Amino acid sequence: MTRRRFYAPPASFTADAKSLTLSGEETRHARDVLRLQSGDEIFVFDGAGREFQCVVQTISRTQAEVSVTAQVEPARPESPLELTLAIALLKGEKFDLVIQKATELGVKRIMPLDTERADVRLREGDSVQKRLTRWRRIALEAAKQTGRAYVPEISAPLALSVLLASAGENKLMFSEREGKSLSEMTNGFDRRATEVIALVGPEGGWTDNEIESARKNAWGIVTLGGRILRAETAGVTVVALLQHRFGDLV
Ligand code: SAH
Repeated sequence: MTRRRFYAPPASFTADAKSLTLSGEETRHARDVLRLQSGDEIFVFDGAGREFQCVVQTISRTQAEVSVTAQVEPARPESPLELTLAIALLKGEKFDLVIQKATELGVKRIMPLDTERADVRLREGDSVQKRLTRWRRIALEAAKQTGRAYVPEISAPLALSVLLASAGENKLMFSEREGKSLSEMTNGFDRRATEVIALVGPEGGWTDNEIESARKNAWGIVTLGGRILRAETAGVTVVALLQHRFGDLV
């Protein structure tokens, strides 16, 4: 039987981890949609990779008290690849789509980037917070839907220059203009690479400066086939390709 799965972040568990409280929203789903009552079995995942078999103790309109029976394997396993998708900010729905699909495909982290030709600039404060909240929610829904117990982390928008200069291995910049093929590039990687970071540009593409700076900072420049993809297509595609090469889409 498929599990009836609910989300509760680590902070909603008691210190001894034997019980937890479901949020208003999760409770409404349990009570009003699934008509759950005390004594019913549910599964709860914490977004950090853990999942628990539980029993509903009490359920009101706004919250449910739940006792933990046992920690169990998540409904679906995580990919062995720790994949970060760093992608330039795109307009509203396009970025939402990337978050949803990349989460389904198993990314660990999504980093929105501010680049020279970015379509969108987020000002500090409200608009950033609003969009982050929305993205995190989309990631949570997608994780839930796919059976993941881990919800990808979405960082606050970062300047490309900061990311380019950061240390790390297996850093790939995807470029519509130049570079090696993905297989040529990844043949140089350890076959069991467990961490990869993939960089995708905005609708307007990369500037020469950006590509040059990536190269200087030891990023491998990769180009895919003969067609120029839209940024959101490129984002989803590189996640699928890398999960195939190093992760669990085999
Ligand atoms: N406006 C640009 C295209 C930008 S495509 C132009 O017309 O030239 C947006 C981003 O998607 C690119 O910066 C790159 O990261 C990625 N991308 C698109 N097509 C690609 C390809 N064939 N190979 C690698 N990356 C690609």
